[in-house]
Amino acid sequence: MAKDVNLTRQLKHYFGFDKFKGDQEAIIQNLMSGHDTFVLMPTGGGKSLCYQLPSLLMEGTAIVISPLIALMKNQVDVINGLSEETGVAHYLNSSLNKAAVQQVMDDIRSGRTKLLYVAPESLNKEESIDFLKSVKISFYAIDEAHCISEWGHDFRPEYRNIRPTINKIGDAPVIALTATATDKVRSDIKKSLAIIDAKEFKSSFNRPNLYYEVRQKSDEVDKQIIKFIRQHEGKSGIIYCLSRKKVEELSEVLKANEIKAAPYHAGLDSATRSQTQDDFLMERIDVIVATIAFGMGIDKPDVRFVIHYDIPKSLEGYYQETGRAGRDGGEGLCIAFYAQKDLKKLEKFMEGKPVAEQDIGRQLLQETAAYATSSVCRRKMLLHYFGEEYTQDNCHNCDNCLHPKEKIEAGKALLIVLKSVLAVKENFRQEYVIDFIKGRGTDDILSHKHDQLEDFGSGEDEDPKLWNPVVRQALIAGYLKKDVENYGLLKVTATGKRFIKHPTAFMIVRDNEFKDDEDEVVNEAV
Ligand code: ADP
Ligand code: ZN
Repeated sequence: MAKDVNLTRQLKHYFGFDKFKGDQEAIIQNLMSGHDTFVLMPTGGGKSLCYQLPSLLMEGTAIVISPLIALMKNQVDVINGLSEETGVAHYLNSSLNKAAVQQVMDDIRSGRTKLLYVAPESLNKEESIDFLKSVKISFYAIDEAHCISEWGHDFRPEYRNIRPTINKIGDAPVIALTATATDKVRSDIKKSLAIIDAKEFKSSFNRPNLYYEVRQKSDEVDKQIIKFIRQHEGKSGIIYCLSRKKVEELSEVLKANEIKAAPYHAGLDSATRSQTQDDFLMERIDVIVATIAFGMGIDKPDVRFVIHYDIPKSLEGYYQETGRAGRDGGEGLCIAFYAQKDLKKLEKFMEGKPVAEQDIGRQLLQETAAYATSSVCRRKMLLHYFGEEYTQDNCHNCDNCLHPKEKIEAGKALLIVLKSVLAVKENFRQEYVIDFIKGRGTDDILSHKHDQLEDFGSGEDEDPKLWNPVVRQALIAGYLKKDVENYGLLKVTATGKRFIKHPTAFMIVRDNEFKDDEDEVVNEAV
């Protein structure tokens, strides 16, 4: 096809690349033929090019909506550097003064500007809408599209106004891009942007070069981290902590131990932050101790380790943060420290928030706790979370695969779980179903009169710690699924129904035991 050859030539011409990465070409063709397009690609997959190249080739100006004001200038500079003309790319955000905004508008009107980056709050303004109505828009690109969803790791309410604003400005194809691919987030994005029929391009989220490990967090954690860094002397790494205070403290401890480390969080002034970033990129420091404020858009290819000092608030967040390791395809060690205390602390933090938000926060947290405590391959769990099936038995690159636990037969337990899910009409979440199986007459269960059902308490003779791993591994194996729309409601799949008719063996691994979980709260909650 002549068109393909042409695209490859344009790729070479503008970007100097010889060939497209992954689905880039198909994505670009879909967009350029006027169709809504949905791109799910892990960080580093090459999302930006999917809208940058078509914007240069199509008539009019492409609007790129991005939440990252700090990165817009950088992106715009890169695009402008690709061409001899000036004003090919611009950005509009709260940092520009009147004269600068005027310049942007003049360039857009003259037809010079192919790419306009805007923050959603700037786009939604009356004056932006009025102006953009009068110009030709080639398409809208919604970057970091997961910001639309409360189930993503970075919800931004202004993202909800994007579709109404597009309708006011004028219709054009939409391309939504994100590195968060859970079913719930995906469905929220499509609905909110009204691109239900968009063609979806999803690449694998597997990062085979990343090693995943979860360690018990004890009082010795600082010592363990120091030892780890010494074993990897001179290598670059990031340590994520949840609080600014911890960031400061840990960074002091590391410095006192002659490790070249620096703190990074949103409470530091911007000069200090960009100095720290530079020092890290230029390898004047080895280790950044940071809150999640650090990392977006930082493209250091040879980060060799990412340590989570505290359990992260969601698996999406965890995946994003660990994704910064090993971008060059080389070694990337991802170690998370887990303690139940931390989990409870995080739950406590949420108490002041609106109920719906608490509910979401708690469920996301439970997914992380499940990840931390399970003995299943970490890669398999992460990929399953992103709706991807990992079929290999052993990934050889996570703690659970390198030290596999003995498998136990749990076919009878699976049968109990499946029957119980059906008994409560597939209308309840994991905690509820497990209470039901154990025969616990909670207020919730009594109010639904489920204690009167035949299957109530059908698993009371089994070890109570069995149920969470059975349910989780049944989800991974596809006997159960969680309802996307009503997040968390357990449903029995066709495979599950077949199992009920013809039960077979079901091999599972028990959860890892953590020293501080004698009170079993996590297991109850997950
Ligand atoms: P994402 O936004 O998905 O995280 P980027 O758009 O930042 O990824 O791209 C990641 C890296 O891949 C960048 O350094 C980019 O220049 C490079 N890249 C993108 N497309 C190609 C290609 N076709 N060939 C080679 N390198 C590419
Ligand atoms: Zn594994």
